[in-house]
Amino acid sequence: MSTDGRPATFTYTGGPVAASPRTLAGLGRPIPFEYDPVYLERFKAVERKVAQVYETEQDIVLMQGEAVLGLEAAARGLCRPRMTALNLVSGIFGKWFGDWLRALGAEVVEIEVEWNDAIDPAEVERALAEHPEIELVAVVHSETPSGTLNPVAEIGPLARSAGALVIVDAVSAFAGTPVRTDAWDLDITVAGPQKCLGGPPGVSLVSVSDRAWEAMEANPGAPRSSYLSLLDWKQRWIDGGREKFPYTTSVADINGIDAALDELLADGLETSFERHERAARACRAGVRAMGLELWAAREEIASHGVTAVTVPDGVSNRDVIAHVRSAYEVMLSDGEHAEMTERVFRLGHMGPASRSLNPVVALAALGKGLADFGVALEIGAGVEAALEVLTEPVDARAQGAPAG
Ligand SMILES: *Cc1c(COP(=O)(O)O)cnc(C)c1O
Repeated sequence: MSTDGRPATFTYTGGPVAASPRTLAGLGRPIPFEYDPVYLERFKAVERKVAQVYETEQDIVLMQGEAVLGLEAAARGLCRPRMTALNLVSGIFGKWFGDWLRALGAEVVEIEVEWNDAIDPAEVERALAEHPEIELVAVVHSETPSGTLNPVAEIGPLARSAGALVIVDAVSAFAGTPVRTDAWDLDITVAGPQKCLGGPPGVSLVSVSDRAWEAMEANPGAPRSSYLSLLDWKQRWIDGGREKFPYTTSVADINGIDAALDELLADGLETSFERHERAARACRAGVRAMGLELWAAREEIASHGVTAVTVPDGVSNRDVIAHVRSAYEVMLSDGEHAEMTERVFRLGHMGPASRSLNPVVALAALGKGLADFGVALEIGAGVEAALEVLTEPVDARAQGAPAG
């Protein structure tokens, strides 16, 4: 693939996504000593801003590694051998979480739906009633490889009233879709900055309820004195008055995440949610008008961060993506993981890619790429359908138009 050593001009992937100029400037700030008061204050401010996005009063733990670290830490912290856990599977990340729970010795009750579908809360209610011994429920909010959303708003309260703790993988929902941690009774929520926040990958943004802390403290198997330990963060950092970290933090990443959060909160959370929802709707309208098929079984369950498109018969998504990257300098995603890899194209509209007419460029790139491989479709109709959604009149502020 010819690249001239430059990243793609346009990146519309399932993440990491291209960061905004403001975030890049944040990443380029000086790297202070981590106990320089300037950095300590910044770190604590990032915790508070993350809590704002999570709409929570819970403790925030910024674990210094990609979101998979936070997810594994949550599983290991709460899972005990022979406990019963309910795992909800609507795609790859949900399936993997079940593998963790089983490896940690849990008895796993699983509800699995087709990977283009979403979990039905009524099924969750039934499983909780049938298995009153369930102590833990795990769910993925936005299944990024499938481009689908699960009804976490309903699942959280069901689990809470059954006395179970809830772990939510909100990695690609955070900042693009509301994650109302307290209102929805979520106990451990994990996100990453490299999706809808448009920040650098490398830090897990974790929210932990008091109930979850108590369960971890009572769990002899919960990691302690370990990179995987949430309890180390509680004991050394939080209970110690936020003076000492358990280990050196990723200073440059925190600088970048701080800038990305400032940009998000200056726009306003609701504005960001609306923008992601609109970009997703534009993408779906474009996909259908072009004559392609959405992967998600229903529009209501489609992700706001990424749109998955069924690969038409007779073409390889891998070949089309490589061609679009080298001929047009546009980077798209395939399904990326396991069984999803070859099934879908994914058009990402997370973070900066949710702004402006980006979905139009993504659609044009996919359409032209497929046409180059002989697929008959209506690129122009797709572009027009997306433009129509993106240019619907809205609150001028939400579009960042100059006032007056
Ligand atoms: C991105 C993502 C993660 C983190 O996984 P990576 O493959 O390491 O990026 C976890 N869960 C979900 C739902 C994600 O979208």
